[in-house]
Amino acid sequence: MNEIRLKAGREKAVLRGHPWIFSGSVAGATDRDEGEFAGHTVKVVDPVGNFLAWGALSPSSKIRVRLWSRNEEDDIDPEFFHTRLKKAINHRNLTIQDKEVDAYRLVHGESDGLPGLIVDKYGEILVVQFLACGVEHWRDLLVDQLGEITGCGHIYERSDTDTRRLEGLPPRKGWLMGGEIVTPIKIKENGLLYWVDILGGQKTGFYLDQRENRSKIREIARGKSILDCFAYTGSFTISALAGGAKGVTAIDSSGEAIRMGRENLAVNHITEASVDWIEANVFEQLRKFRDLNRMFDMVILDPPKFAPTASHAQRAARGYKDINLLALKLLNPDGLLVTFSCSGGVSEDLFQKIIAGAALDAEVQAKIINRLGPGVDHPVALNFPEGSYLKGLIVQV
Ligand code: SAH
Repeated sequence: MNEIRLKAGREKAVLRGHPWIFSGSVAGATDRDEGEFAGHTVKVVDPVGNFLAWGALSPSSKIRVRLWSRNEEDDIDPEFFHTRLKKAINHRNLTIQDKEVDAYRLVHGESDGLPGLIVDKYGEILVVQFLACGVEHWRDLLVDQLGEITGCGHIYERSDTDTRRLEGLPPRKGWLMGGEIVTPIKIKENGLLYWVDILGGQKTGFYLDQRENRSKIREIARGKSILDCFAYTGSFTISALAGGAKGVTAIDSSGEAIRMGRENLAVNHITEASVDWIEANVFEQLRKFRDLNRMFDMVILDPPKFAPTASHAQRAARGYKDINLLALKLLNPDGLLVTFSCSGGVSEDLFQKIIAGAALDAEVQAKIINRLGPGVDHPVALNFPEGSYLKGLIVQV
């Protein structure tokens, strides 16, 4: 198993630089693609045998090959990975120089040329995810190189995601370097402190992709009454209060997240009375508020992913429309809706259309005053539109 030949016409996506080859594009390998070759480097060739790319084989996934390089001269070896890691980490060193920030993403998978690898830095601790056979195959080497390049002595693995099953890999978590340390850990962001449960929290522990949007919310929160929906551990809530918000109502369905949210208030010396935490389903709670005629100056909606891929987009659209319609009805005159989608399957264009439909049905006249996205540490490779998952709008009524 060392060569993958593509069906006629299927080389076009590779030539455009897309990093995935789907099983349906493979004409038939020159050998049998069995599990023992998972993660091995293969040569991808066009229908007549010309070189296209080097990639890693995922025998049981629909994404059959994830590409490492389109340069035939490249050797996919330790030096190759060292160069890719250094480039990714240098980008963060150059773009995040704020001393008040010590937690951010170091490696963002495909968009950093390392398909399936996620590395988040929380102070002196790295949390890694190996989400595809290729990076799984090179796991020990990548861990050693990450330790060496960053100087971080503690590395924890959070490969406990469902997406690994699609690769035929079992979920896994545990310390890879440096042994156990006391958790949760405390991170610093924009001068505020947050507790992060890297062992059991959502994703790798914290929604690092929202860092710049937390700053934005802090800027516009002064004097406002705010409803923070899908609040998790309260990062938007705390940012808003740091920006002078009058008070926040924060809803999340996870009691564990709310407990940590309360701790996050304490560590920032914010009085408990400034937040009304509600453990509830947002879909139901918004209806209750509507029936009670509760009104706010700002509503934040940051729901979990409703559509992982475009095939789920229709159902997801109904979910987004529902909560956005309800939120718009809860806004005082001149109120702000800060609304996000982190669904890879919902494009920016579609998201805007959904919000427009919600405003129409809510019978409010509304305008977009800001467009939001992830921070500089979550780049999107131009030839990998799937990487552009987080989008947000600030809408004024
Ligand atoms: N805004 C947060 C991240 C939100 S992630 C931050 O920046 O830190 C989505 C959150 O929604 C999770 O905390 C999850 O527990 C919660 N959640 C998922 N479904 C929900 C529902 N139907 N009602 C309320 N909360 C929900």
